[in-house]
Amino acid sequence: MNSTLLAHLNPEQLAAVTLESEPGLILAGAGSGKTRVLTTRIAWLLSTGRVGPGGIMAVTFTNKAAKEMLTRLSAMLPYNVRGMWIGTFHGLCHRFLRAHWKAAGLPQGFQILDASDTVAAVKRVCKAMNLDEERYPAKQAAHFIAHAKERAERPKDVVPRDEQDRRFIEVYAQYDAQCQREGVVDFAELMLRTYELMRDDPALRAHYQQRFQHVLVDEFQDTNALQYAWLKLFAPPGGQQAVFAVGDDDQSIYAFRGAEVGNMAAFEREYRVRLQVKLEQNYRSCGHILDAANHLISHNERRLGKTLRTDGPQGEPIRVNESPTDFEEAKWVLEEAQSLHRAGTPRAEIALLYRSNAQSRVLESALFNAGIPYRVYGGLRFFERAEIKHALAYLRLLENPNDDTSFLRVVNFPARAIGARTLEQLQDAARSSGRSLWQSVSALSGKPGQVLAKFTALVEELRRATEGQTLRGIVEHVVEGSGLAAHYRSDKDGAERLENLDELITAAESFVTQEGFGRDAVALPVDELGQGPGLTPDAETGEIMSPLAAFLTHASLEAGEHQAIAGADAIQLMTIHAAKGLEFDAVFLTGLEEGLFPNERALSDPDGLEEERRLMYVAITRARQRLHLSFSQTRMLHGQTRYNVKSRFFDELPPDALKWLTPQGGGFGSGFERDYASAWQRGSGLKGIVGAGREGWEPPRPRWGNASAAPAPAPVLPKSGHDSGLRPGQGVFHTKFGEGVVLALEGSGNDARAHVRFGRHGDKWLALSVAKLTPI
Ligand code: ATP
Ligand code: MG
Repeated sequence: MNSTLLAHLNPEQLAAVTLESEPGLILAGAGSGKTRVLTTRIAWLLSTGRVGPGGIMAVTFTNKAAKEMLTRLSAMLPYNVRGMWIGTFHGLCHRFLRAHWKAAGLPQGFQILDASDTVAAVKRVCKAMNLDEERYPAKQAAHFIAHAKERAERPKDVVPRDEQDRRFIEVYAQYDAQCQREGVVDFAELMLRTYELMRDDPALRAHYQQRFQHVLVDEFQDTNALQYAWLKLFAPPGGQQAVFAVGDDDQSIYAFRGAEVGNMAAFEREYRVRLQVKLEQNYRSCGHILDAANHLISHNERRLGKTLRTDGPQGEPIRVNESPTDFEEAKWVLEEAQSLHRAGTPRAEIALLYRSNAQSRVLESALFNAGIPYRVYGGLRFFERAEIKHALAYLRLLENPNDDTSFLRVVNFPARAIGARTLEQLQDAARSSGRSLWQSVSALSGKPGQVLAKFTALVEELRRATEGQTLRGIVEHVVEGSGLAAHYRSDKDGAERLENLDELITAAESFVTQEGFGRDAVALPVDELGQGPGLTPDAETGEIMSPLAAFLTHASLEAGEHQAIAGADAIQLMTIHAAKGLEFDAVFLTGLEEGLFPNERALSDPDGLEEERRLMYVAITRARQRLHLSFSQTRMLHGQTRYNVKSRFFDELPPDALKWLTPQGGGFGSGFERDYASAWQRGSGLKGIVGAGREGWEPPRPRWGNASAAPAPAPVLPKSGHDSGLRPGQGVFHTKFGEGVVLALEGSGNDARAHVRFGRHGDKWLALSVAKLTPI
């Protein structure tokens, strides 16, 4: 089997796969086979008997990637790979803490707070501290806490810069105490807790260092300082273990979350890497797509510098489309995707990618209305819907009644006449005794005590009734017994929510059966999270997770990835961040507009802009055969209509690789634009020239430039002067932003606005009644 395993590798890949027990680093571009090398190396190590499945730990970046790796491995190897330590940092940490909950100071049934639960929990702390919400927003406090944890800082370690920090440190301390009381951990805590335990417990550290002889890390460029430090605890430099890292500096897209590309250089130095493999052959994308990626990324200055070539065909040129509205854009995407599908591309091989989650709504509704199956990864996901969270909260209380977040969510849902005053009393009692809400119910007397006791009795009853049942049975019983089903049945708008609750029951069932486990299983697989113990309890600790605990973990860690029926042929929707490491036959990249992509937050900062460009590079390189790029002149986002100009990234792509479907993209041409231009020139009111079937719709702002224009494009519209006395192309000076060039003008009188590209501050729309612009 060895020979077939290694048959499809080029010489550089082969050298990396068969590297004997020493540290290795692959630094190579997208689609060059890094992940393939990593997976094949695991298979090679196992099949040649160099190490057993228990001796390997592999870290991937998404659950999807971990799952894919396990699938590939089970295809290559004759035995069950489910128990292996392959998963995301968070998934592996979770598995670790499940095994060592006691040493980590956690209750056995500890639960995980997802992002929105975390903010809700921080909010409770802020409220208890009587903090002014305006000055100390809970969301900001939650970020503060997460960042501190990512730097491995506990409240006592954080150095405050100002008064706000001082308050947030207090929030952090109280929040930690609250989580501890409730037996819950947030995502950042999973990582930090594991790190601290490994750091402070020499026996445990020695055990794991001896156990994992091979540690492999994919997407190494996106590890942050804590993750790298964590890694060094499992496999210290100079130790017996062979650490194998692969990455691509051009795909580093998590700097905003503290990722450090510098970790790659540090790794090479600290581990004294002798073999640094470079892979230059791209096996994924057609020529045009690869040309576009290479061209684009060459605009970044801070690069380690790599090249990528392909022996494959040039393929179809990249199709570029401009739409008047995001609505039209979605329609276009749908038509193109449908025609690809008719021509034989499976839907699951078609990905719609976007910069931010909010953009998915319009695509989703177009797909939904057309009855085309699709799956959204991320965004408002199945497990985040209110009715699902309610049901999960009941289930979580069965596992851990001290989970206050879940308690508060459902104590009065469905309504059981438990008022805000009663809850305040309960919270006061809990605070003063340092106990959970559940434990404090008995402290309340009179009516409040009675109604609350009825609730706890209900949960107790649910627990008794579901003991020994299958996971499906438990979920089914709780949906009914909690009164949730009845509640939605009596609600005239509850039909969809009922369907979702049914879907939850299905999800529970497939969670068991999909992975091949019947009701007799002693332990459930949750391997896509990296912590699946397989059929046997964990070798060290003997811990087995209950099916329900495993399912709840799955719900909070992997929310959304099973929202559509698994295995159905559905179009894939996700953010570019979520698409990292993946590949598809056809990729659509929508919303290529200045301010959206590159994102406006990044425009004023060169580092930010380079990160956006890397993100664009990641997006382009997801495509095998077909790439579609599109932008829209107007877009509804967050309840507002935005007027857009095409992304500067178009100017950074090789014109030969592009096929513009709309005339020249960015100038006159379409009837739409001609109408608009002439209206502009006539000086008539701009409203209502072209209807787009939407309220509040206004014609687009003028645009300029074309695909091959220089970075500071020559303005095309409008031709005539503006009543402000300014004209496009004119140099101006602004007291704060300095020198710039007028790109476009619109409106008149008090409403006049100018779009100006400033040398150092990027593009800005300015109200001319306020902004002082001096012609230069
Ligand atoms: P990314 O940077 O996007 O994560 P990567 O470097 O990890 O990309 P892979 O996903 O491992 O690249 O490989 C890209 C594609 O090329 C995959 O479909 C893989 O199977 C294929 N591939 C890799 N190496 C070879 C090879 N030697 N021969 C044929 N196909 C290959
Ligand atoms: Mg990869």
